[in-house]
Amino acid sequence: MQETRIRIFLVEDDEIDAMSFERALKKSGFGNYLLKHCKNAPEALETLGREEFDCIFLDYQLPGSDGLELLKRIRVQGVNTPIAVMTSQGDEKIAVEMMKAGAFDYFPKAEVTPENITKIIRSGLRLKESETQKARFEQALKENIDRLNTIVESTNALIFSVDKGLRYTSFNSRFKKTIQKLYNIEPEIGLQAVYDFYLDKDRKAIYDEFKKALEGEHTVITEEFGDPSGVSSYYEFSFNPIIDDEGNVSGVAVYGQDCTKRNKEQLEILESKLEAERTAKAKSEFLSNMSHEIRTPMNAIIGLSELLLKENLTEKQLENMKSIKFSADNLLVIINDILDFSKIESGKVEFESLNFDIFSKVHEIRKTFIFKAEEKGLGLKFEIDEKIPQFLVGDPYRLNQILLNLLSNAVKFTKEGTVSLLVNLISEEEDNIHVEFKVVDTGIGIPKDKLASVFESYTQAYTDITRRFGGTGLGLAITRQLVTMQNGEISLDSEPGVGTTFTVKLKFKKGEIEGVGTPEDMIAELLEKRDFGGMSVLLVEDNVMNQFVACQVLELWNIKVECADNGLEAVKLLEKKDYAIVLMDLQMPAMNGYEATAFIRDKTNKLRNPDIPIIALTADAFPETRKKVLDEGMNDFVTKPLEQNDLYAKIKQHALKSVKA
Ligand code: ATP
Ligand code: MG
Repeated sequence: MQETRIRIFLVEDDEIDAMSFERALKKSGFGNYLLKHCKNAPEALETLGREEFDCIFLDYQLPGSDGLELLKRIRVQGVNTPIAVMTSQGDEKIAVEMMKAGAFDYFPKAEVTPENITKIIRSGLRLKESETQKARFEQALKENIDRLNTIVESTNALIFSVDKGLRYTSFNSRFKKTIQKLYNIEPEIGLQAVYDFYLDKDRKAIYDEFKKALEGEHTVITEEFGDPSGVSSYYEFSFNPIIDDEGNVSGVAVYGQDCTKRNKEQLEILESKLEAERTAKAKSEFLSNMSHEIRTPMNAIIGLSELLLKENLTEKQLENMKSIKFSADNLLVIINDILDFSKIESGKVEFESLNFDIFSKVHEIRKTFIFKAEEKGLGLKFEIDEKIPQFLVGDPYRLNQILLNLLSNAVKFTKEGTVSLLVNLISEEEDNIHVEFKVVDTGIGIPKDKLASVFESYTQAYTDITRRFGGTGLGLAITRQLVTMQNGEISLDSEPGVGTTFTVKLKFKKGEIEGVGTPEDMIAELLEKRDFGGMSVLLVEDNVMNQFVACQVLELWNIKVECADNGLEAVKLLEKKDYAIVLMDLQMPAMNGYEATAFIRDKTNKLRNPDIPIIALTADAFPETRKKVLDEGMNDFVTKPLEQNDLYAKIKQHALKSVKA
C-alpha cells in the first residue's frame, strides 16, 4: 500500500537551523514526505493561503514578527493545521504563551532529533485527524440542524418550546405568525408563554397540560381560538416533556395543529346525527301518542260490539255486528303494530325472562287461528317436537307476537291448502335450548326480488296488497326486530304460486316445571257461572265511554259498580265506603292512577282499607308499563280494550284473596 505523502511546512529564517531540521526529518521514519520551507511571516501566510499541510513547524524568532504574532494570524486566516513551535532559548514562558494561542507542542532547537521530529509529526497527524473528524461532525450536525429547521419552519404546525418557568425557549415562524394574527403581539424568547394563550380567555386547560408535561406526561388537548374577526379555529396541541442529559424534565415542547376542518366535519356529522335522531324521536312519539289516543275509543267500540253480539239480533244485524267487530279488531291490530313499532324504533323495548309452558303457548296460538282458517277453508297443522322441554324461560308475549304476525300473514296470503307451524329442537346445551319455529304456507308466495325488502317497514310485496288484504306492512319489520333483539335469527324462503316458509330461531333457558291444572279443572272453570253475588267494585276511569262499557260487563257478572272520574274522587269514596276491589285507569286528570295508588297505600292517610286489591287498566301491554304498575303498589293489570276472560279471572283471583285475608 502506498503510504500517503505527509506534507510538512517549516517556517525558519536561519539556514543552518533549517538544514539541521531537514536532516533530522530525512532520518525520521517517514519515507514519503514533502517539505516546504519559507523564511518569513508574510511568505508563510501567503503559502498557507494556497496550500494545505499536515503539520507546521514554526520558529519563534522571525524577522519583523515574532512567532506568537504569526501563530495568531495563521489561525485568524482559518488554518487549523497543528503547529509545533521551536524555540532557541528554551524559554518556558514563551512556550506557554504559544500553547495558549493554539500551538500543540513545542521543543528547543537543540532537540531537533529524528526521534523527536517523528514523535511530534505523529502527534500532529493524530491531532489533525481528530480535528478533521470534529469538523466533519460539526458539519453534519449543522446540516442536520438546518434540515430540521427547514422542516420546523416550513410545516403548517405551530411548534414552540418553553423552559421550566414556561418561558419561550424557541418557536417556529408559523407559531409566531399565528400569535400575531390572534393577539396582535409577538412572542419573544424568554417571555412567559402561557400569558399569550390567556389573552382571549381563561385557558386553564393549557396551563394544566404544561404542568402535566413538566411532570413527565405526554398529553394532547384541543382548544378553540377566535381571531379578532370572530372566526374560530381549533388547534390540537400535543405537550411533550423535554428531558435533559440527567434525565430531568427541563422544559416542554409543544406541537399544535389546526384541526378546524376535521372538527367542523365531526361537528356536522354529530349535528346531522342528532337531527336525525330528533326527527325519528318526534315521529315515533307522534305515532305512539296517536295510536294511544285511538285505543281508547277502540276500547269502547270493541267492548260494546261484544256486548251487542250477545243480544238477540236478527240474522242481518248479527252479520253486520260481526263485520263491525272484525274491522274493529283489525284496526286494533294496526294500531298496536304502530305503537309497537314506534316503541321499537325509540329503543324502548325490554324483554321479559319468564317461565312459561311452550306447549300450551303453541296450543293457545292454534286456537286463535282455528276460526280464521275454517272460514277460509284452510288446513291448520301445528306440530311441536316432544323433545323440547315443556317449560322454557324467555319472553312469551314477544314469542306470541312473532308467531301471530307470521301466522296471520300465512293465513292472509293463502287461498287454499294448509298453514303450518312446526316447532323443532335444534340443539340443547346444559342450560339453553335452541328452538326453531317454521311457519309454512301454500299461498301466493313472494317474488325473488322482494325477498329482502319485505322485512322493511311499510313495505309490501305487491302494490295492491293493502287494497286486497289490508295491513300496513309493519308486521314483518316488527317481527324481525323482536327476533334479532333477542339474538335470534329470522329467514324466509318463498316461491311465487307455491308457498312461503318463514323460519325463526330463538334461544331459551330451560325452565322449571310448574303445577298444571288438570283438564277437569279447566272444564269446571269454563262451565262456571260468572256470578260475584253483588260484590261491590270501584271503577276509576275518566272516559265516560269506557266507564259505560266496563259497567255493562261487570254488571253482567253480578257486580255492583261505582264509578269515580279520577283518582281524587276515588280516594274520597274509599274514605267512606268498603269495596272488594278497585279497577284503576292510569292516565286521568286531577290525580292519576299511580298517584291515587300511592295515596291509598299510604297508611297515614287512614283510608278504610289501604291494602285493597287494585287492578290497573292499561292501554298498553309493554313490559315497562306492567313493571311500573306492580312497582307502584298495584296488584295486577288488565289491558284495554278489556278482554272479558282476563278481567274475570283477575277480579276473581284478587277479590277472593282479599276476602280470605
Ligand atoms: P301488517 O302486517 O302490517 O298488517 P302486511 O302483512 O302487509 O301488513 P308484513 O307482515 O310486514 O306486512 O309483510 C310485508 C309483505 O310481505 C306483505 O305485504 C306481503 O307482500 C309479504 N308477505 C309476508 N308474508 C307473506 C306470506 N306468508 N306469503 C306471501 N307474502 C307474504
Ligand atoms: Mg303482516
